[in-house]
Amino acid sequence: MNLSSLLKDGAAVLKRAGIKNIHTDTQLILAAALKKDRLYVLTNPQAEASHAETNVFIENIKKRAQGCPLEYITFCAEFYSLPFYVDENVLIPRLDTEVLADAAVKKIGSSGAKVIEIGTGSGVIAVTVAKNCENAEITATDISCAALEIAKKNAAQNNVRVTFRQGDIYAALNDCDYPADYIISNPPYIKRAEIAELDKSVRCFEPEIALNGGADGLNFYRKIITGAKKYLKPSGFVMFEIGYNQALDVSEIFTNEGFADILIKNDSANLNRVIEARKNYV
Ligand code: GLN
Repeated sequence: MNLSSLLKDGAAVLKRAGIKNIHTDTQLILAAALKKDRLYVLTNPQAEASHAETNVFIENIKKRAQGCPLEYITFCAEFYSLPFYVDENVLIPRLDTEVLADAAVKKIGSSGAKVIEIGTGSGVIAVTVAKNCENAEITATDISCAALEIAKKNAAQNNVRVTFRQGDIYAALNDCDYPADYIISNPPYIKRAEIAELDKSVRCFEPEIALNGGADGLNFYRKIITGAKKYLKPSGFVMFEIGYNQALDVSEIFTNEGFADILIKNDSANLNRVIEARKNYV
């Protein structure tokens, strides 16, 4: 079949399934099946797809119709204008998370700071900081070996140096990785009971381990802030992404643990999205 017919049939399947951006999605799914870019698909309507390419296209259109996010079909996502490989072992990077990455990039600048990122997933935050903060020394951790393989691939793809360590929160670190000037994290922060209510595309396809923040959603904030006493320099900063309704709870944890200069930043929808605080003792 030629590309134009495949696009027409694919878009019809996605439309019946109630998918939103049917044309963009169909074009990108076809481009991925052909291992070409979207421009090729749009400018070669009469080109013929091989039997194998057509089969891959049909299978992937079916996946998309079932709600699988486009990024897990094309295996790519953009974050902070950089290209990243993603698959079902890692969370798809969210536009909201650029608020944290941007705050970190601006705060760290070219200071040559020592930075630890906890729960790096696809590596978007660590790689973005490495790319934009020339002298930063970055260690990124994750408990998932599969996620770390992806993060390593993304550091290489973006030509940056990040040290990756596998393990649970601080247990992943070696002595030489700390004390750090900054501890950054977009930890799992959804309340366990609320995971069942998430959109199907998240609930059925994204890794639960990257979402589940325990009974009240605050497990990782508690553990990271408490541990920061040991792993952060005296006046170092902790910077987190938070859920829109978690600013008060996380501020309270910071205050109880002796942190000061708490600052909250909002996302483009004007919802609380980032919180940072300074360790306030020597
Ligand atoms: N740091 C990664 C991101 O922000 C992964 C976050 C996570 O898995 N909770 O996308």
